Amino acid sequence: MGEIFEGPDILSMNLAELSADELFAGGKKFRAKQVYGWLHVKNAASYGEMTDLPKELRERLAAERPIRGCVKETMQESAVDGTRKYLFRLSDGNYVESVFMRYHHGNSVCISSQVGCRMGCAFCASTIGGLTRNLTAGEMLSQIYMIGRDTGERVSNVVVMGTGEPLDNYENLVRFIRMLSDENGHNISERNITVSTCGLAPMIRRLRDEDLQINLALSLHAPDDAMRRTIMPVAKSCSLAEVFDALRYYYEGNKRRLTFEYSLIAGKNDSAECAKKLAERLKGLNCLVNLIPVNPVTERNFKAPKAYFVQEFKKLLEKYGIHVTIRREMGRDIDGACGQLRKRYMKNS
Ligand code: SAH
Repeated sequence: MGEIFEGPDILSMNLAELSADELFAGGKKFRAKQVYGWLHVKNAASYGEMTDLPKELRERLAAERPIRGCVKETMQESAVDGTRKYLFRLSDGNYVESVFMRYHHGNSVCISSQVGCRMGCAFCASTIGGLTRNLTAGEMLSQIYMIGRDTGERVSNVVVMGTGEPLDNYENLVRFIRMLSDENGHNISERNITVSTCGLAPMIRRLRDEDLQINLALSLHAPDDAMRRTIMPVAKSCSLAEVFDALRYYYEGNKRRLTFEYSLIAGKNDSAECAKKLAERLKGLNCLVNLIPVNPVTERNFKAPKAYFVQEFKKLLEKYGIHVTIRREMGRDIDGACGQLRKRYMKNS
């Protein structure tokens, strides 16, 4: 997909790269560290805020190193649980969504990794218009920083589960993770970062070789290839055998418990037989199944099973010795499924 922007993208530069920038040459290296702190620790959105820098340098930076971050366009807050859904405008006029959730163990942010998505999952709103472009590392970071700025609260967990397939934007994702966990930056522990993928097996293998301590979640949604192919086009190019081999390889690397997301769709993948097959497939893996009653999307015809059947499915899996949670519904009074706020906004604007 090539370079996203022409010229240096300061928000995506790590400290070493920023320190090597010609603007900080000639004894001004400490200035690079100051700027890095403003951008990545203090959530600055403009050079104007960096009051301990000489005015001249601020002006030069503003002219030559634009900050290509996220600008809050609108936000919806749930009256039920305080969950906030943000719509951000990017520097080229595209929009992305992010979600802020409060849990007892801390605040969590769910970020997008692409504008749109090309994976084509049948139940997902984010993929309807296809992929527009990848996000830069800086744009992924900025979603977290701007939420921190807006809420005034610390973010301790990050999940890459918003719009986009993170492993389809591999280089920027890895850069994002390294910068987010950098002790000179936001310093969020890799153990508190989770990446969710639809199962690009070769990329899962590559990710293991980066030697990161991050958690991996796989969007499974079906117990076998035949059914998976009917709802997830990616299953046509990566079989479950390949995906599970890659997951085992990943697990050998950092020994982090794997999560499997399973969106329950009434009459499709919610039968007792599905539960049994699923349990057989997961046998022996250190894992957790996260059941998500499917979120109805206006353009799609899927319905969630009744709560009773979701519980039954959970009980069946547990009978086979599988750890299961049902995704706590956050912000049910604000725009349902991921990607819907962005789509509705684009239609109205
Ligand atoms: N591309 C990545 C991450 C984005 S989607 C992935 O596939 O994992 C985050 C999770 O939400 C995935 O498990 C996805 O399958 C699921 N999802 C998407 N739309 C949904 C919907 N309408 N209802 C329930 N889950 C949905």
